[in-house]
Amino acid sequence: MVSVKSAPPERPTMECQTEHFLMAQRQLDEIALEMGLDMELHERLRYPKRALIVAVPVRMDDGTVKTFTGYRVQHDTTLGPAKGGLRYHPEVNLGEVSTLAMLMTWKCALMGLPYGGAKGGIKCEPWNMSVGELERMTRRYTSEIINIIGPDKDIPAPDMYTNEQTMAWIMDTYSINVGHTVPSVVTGKPVSIGGSLGRHEATGRGVAFCVKKAVAHFKIAGPSPSVVIQGFGNVGSISAKILHEFGFKIVGVSDVFGGIYNPGGIDIPRLLAYITEMGKVAGFAGTTNVSNSELLELPCDVLIPAALGNQITAKNAPNLRCKIVVEGANGPTEPEADLWLHKNGITVVPDILANAGGVTVSYFEWVQGMMHLFWTESEVNTRLEEIMNRACDQVFDMCTKTGLRPRMAALRIGVSKLAEAKRLRGLYP
Ligand code: GLU
Repeated sequence: MVSVKSAPPERPTMECQTEHFLMAQRQLDEIALEMGLDMELHERLRYPKRALIVAVPVRMDDGTVKTFTGYRVQHDTTLGPAKGGLRYHPEVNLGEVSTLAMLMTWKCALMGLPYGGAKGGIKCEPWNMSVGELERMTRRYTSEIINIIGPDKDIPAPDMYTNEQTMAWIMDTYSINVGHTVPSVVTGKPVSIGGSLGRHEATGRGVAFCVKKAVAHFKIAGPSPSVVIQGFGNVGSISAKILHEFGFKIVGVSDVFGGIYNPGGIDIPRLLAYITEMGKVAGFAGTTNVSNSELLELPCDVLIPAALGNQITAKNAPNLRCKIVVEGANGPTEPEADLWLHKNGITVVPDILANAGGVTVSYFEWVQGMMHLFWTESEVNTRLEEIMNRACDQVFDMCTKTGLRPRMAALRIGVSKLAEAKRLRGLYP
């Protein structure tokens, strides 16, 4: 009998294999080799299980009809329904959505959540659209993907430029179409229609727990370590607020318009009030304005990129003056930069661990919805802290045991859990 295991795999090519997706595949290949993963199991993890592309025609406010492209990719469903966010951005494409869906698979497995990984997106410029246009686009997209989503199939959540309101429209459209109210088709919805207390803050809170753990583990000196945060949206602003409460010194923050710096520490509660009034961080009293690229290069203990992907590159990595990077955003560090930082003594705590607080509380929201029994905010936060701390300990212990960098250690834990589940379930038919 010929042993298929030793044969070189014949690899299919798929339309999702953009440069971005190939990087994610290479990362999986690297860890598969390192952990001696069965070749056939490895192959099965290299591609999305299902990818749907839909045309989304929308009546714009001026009466014309504009057609947008929408995607929903389910990378894997071995451990449970697919789970992952929905993003609205002009750079959304099949490769990016597939990459992020694969990351969600590793993230959910690493955190011990009973989910597979998914991601969705619509290629659009949400900041140039009215609320009505966004609502009509969201509802039409939902109806186009309705056959592949559901509380037991695939559960969308907020991601870049989507929020609680977007989730409410998806929940409503889905419910009207199936004929009864189904809150658990999405997570990250408003509390008044079945959302969870603490979900809005969950990603930022999780980042803050992770920073606390990483600073202790990697022995970052000083009673009040300094932090720089790129991005002041949901993740950046909430991590700033919670880290400030924990006693960290936030020395720099930025939003799309630019950044601010004060080596003595920024008064975050006052800054949050300032933003409500001014709509941006620039010009806040007692700080110096810096550009977004200067911000990344400020001296600090902890750098939190919490804006877009691919912000830390081979070009700017040598200029970084932090001790650790904690990835609030998905994919903020390019692979070449990641390796460079590792070799030069800067630890990178990866996205699939650092920003997993969001999907963890999404899981709590789904569980509460299924049980029709709701938890208090402190119950949510306590359980989140437990799960974040456990995952951080597992990853940091694996780094110590194997010498792997945290990204690879996290990936190894996630991939092993999935490989074990796939092995046990077997291959149909
Ligand atoms: N979009 C978030 C992420 O990338 C949350 C996903 C979710 O809650 O399902 O992890």
